[in-house]
Amino acid sequence: MSKARIATEWLMVCSGCHISLLDIHEAILDVLAKADIVRSPVLADVKEFVPADVGIITGGIRNEHNIHVAKEMRKNCKIIVSLGSCACFGGTPGLGNLYTREEIFDKVYYPGNCMGVDNPLGREPRDDVPPLTEKVLPLSSVIDVDVVVPGCPPVPELIATGVMALLNGEPLNLPNQSVCEPCPREKSHEKITELKRWYKSAGEEIDPDKCFLEQGYVCVGPVTWGLCDARCTKVGVPCRGCHGPLNPDPVEGTDPGLDTTSFLGTLASQVGVEQVMEAMGNDPVSIMYQHQFAYSKLGKLKEKK
Ligand code: SF4
Ligand code: SF4
Ligand code: SF4
Repeated sequence: MSKARIATEWLMVCSGCHISLLDIHEAILDVLAKADIVRSPVLADVKEFVPADVGIITGGIRNEHNIHVAKEMRKNCKIIVSLGSCACFGGTPGLGNLYTREEIFDKVYYPGNCMGVDNPLGREPRDDVPPLTEKVLPLSSVIDVDVVVPGCPPVPELIATGVMALLNGEPLNLPNQSVCEPCPREKSHEKITELKRWYKSAGEEIDPDKCFLEQGYVCVGPVTWGLCDARCTKVGVPCRGCHGPLNPDPVEGTDPGLDTTSFLGTLASQVGVEQVMEAMGNDPVSIMYQHQFAYSKLGKLKEKK
């Protein structure tokens, strides 16, 4: 039986998702027994787009070149997998949609505003580089996507399981659970009486076995898709929602931040709005939509000033 062909590509990325692909360790042997990797920016120096059975794309859309690459992959691959929260939801770069493209250029390149860029003449890299899109977009905004695997990055075990399911022609049954399910921290379900910012934990004794929320720290595990085996809370860090909402395919009219919004509303009814806002650093968007702002109605609809 001939082997399947896998192609991978990255768009607007930090490259962490592709590194997670490499981190599947010995499971790569099972994959290579069934498939050849015919194109991959980290594994194979192939410039042209080649036909493949499975195309794995990491990263969202931030410039015109990203759109070109996404469309070429769609043309050449039978199945497209959107891997990682940047591809699925726009990821943390999607928070850039709080600003217009011009505001971002001003912030980075205007003399005096520059963050880490010495640019006394205020030159902007507008020539010979692909123009930025108006907004950060999830991959599904520009091409049809067949399989969605979120995470920042997705855990290697999930990637290995997902790829093998595709190669074996089996359904990819992802658990329908929140991060609280695999999280081993004790939950007493008592009323929460205090909320505070995570940085205030410095110097405080944190019970390693008790739920973060019940110790007063914001953890969005209850409204986050638990595909990661609670890898952050197990090592002492509250969940920041990188796998997105439990239902990552919101129907028309719903919004991926709604669960978090209603969750924070419940907390506000227990400790007061002021404490919830303070615990979020008065920056609710970065807690409610840290990885999915570009996928939300709010992130898409922000008007250009
Ligand atoms: S989802 Fe996270 S790890 Fe993957 S490319 Fe985006 S920022 Fe990097
Ligand atoms: S620490 Fe977070 S993920 Fe774990 S049980 Fe509490 S709220 Fe849920
Ligand atoms: S615990 Fe939360 S932030 Fe950490 S990997 Fe899982 S979903 Fe992402």
